[in-house]
Amino acid sequence: MRWKEQLLQLTPYQPGKSIEAVKRQYKLDKIVKLASNENPFGCSSQALDALQSNQTSLAIYPDGYATILRETLSTYLQVDEEELIFGNGSDNLIQIISRALLHPNANTIMATPSFSQYKHNAVIEGAVCKEIPLVNGNHDLDSMLAAIDDQTNVIWLCSPNNPTGTYIPESKLNAFLEKVPADILVVLDEAYYEYVVAEDYYDSIKLAQKYENLIVLRTFSKIYGLAALRIGYGVANPSIIKALEPAREPFNVNSLGQLAASAAIKDQQFINSCKEKNRQGLEQFYEFCGKYELDYYPSQTNFILIDCKTDGDVVFQNLMQRGYIVRSGKALGFPTGVRITVGSFEQNEGVLHALGEFLSQK
Ligand code: PMP
Repeated sequence: MRWKEQLLQLTPYQPGKSIEAVKRQYKLDKIVKLASNENPFGCSSQALDALQSNQTSLAIYPDGYATILRETLSTYLQVDEEELIFGNGSDNLIQIISRALLHPNANTIMATPSFSQYKHNAVIEGAVCKEIPLVNGNHDLDSMLAAIDDQTNVIWLCSPNNPTGTYIPESKLNAFLEKVPADILVVLDEAYYEYVVAEDYYDSIKLAQKYENLIVLRTFSKIYGLAALRIGYGVANPSIIKALEPAREPFNVNSLGQLAASAAIKDQQFINSCKEKNRQGLEQFYEFCGKYELDYYPSQTNFILIDCKTDGDVVFQNLMQRGYIVRSGKALGFPTGVRITVGSFEQNEGVLHALGEFLSQK
């Protein structure tokens, strides 16, 4: 076979370990997974009700236009239906954008460490990746601007950033967008948008309406608690959506996901309560870090990256043996860190107790 050469250097995405795999490996009854930034409180009961009363036949293809979801979301976000594109998770939108704009004669700019899929997809398309190191956990927007050249087709911004939980303040983002040439697509990945509380955060939807070269990506996998159903969406000028659409598979968003997401949007009370509980959960982590004198990045998300001052893989292994699956910072660009998803109050207490024991024994 004459595989694309760049595929040979890639490994598949390494997801957080599954609960079943860990249960079997360590012969544990109870496992708490705090590795993939899922919502510990599940999803809205309205989404579950919608699924239960589902009349959709599984023999029928999904609505390729996602008509109801599109209507519901456009009303909720106050955008035109033509300003929306849907994906099988925002992962799929990253893939569609890469497929549409990246090729061996193009380059793309991203921060590092950041979400792995920007680089992964760019490499598959054969594009050159210009990775700009974070400075103190934040995007170095000046260096990202300086890296632009005639071959640059896409710039990826992750705000709040995975794995640091940091965000780009409004004034900095505005200044950046003013300077990016209009023929370069800026992708603003806001997978954790709904968790943000920072006051100098921006209104990204307004920005997408102002800048014709900006697309905002969001997802139903995080605060909406629908990760299994794989729904992500993009908001951009209709000209961008129109150009991307041919690169999208016709039936990329499944029927049950469309149904659940449409119902979930209508239950903002659930979203607000998750946001509030997440804030309280983060406080548990901050207090712990204070007590153990550990560095961390203040987070605008539902996860926290903690510097445990020791090999992240060792911390990860140790917590796993105690029934807590987290992410080692090693594969995420922070060798002495662990990234832990904020869980319920009890889950946070449990994982912090386990981490405290580990640190005390060191
Ligand atoms: N972007 C970021 C920053 C993420 O952390 C994730 C999930 N890990 C995604 C996109 C993809 O999420 P999904 O495909 O579930 O929408």
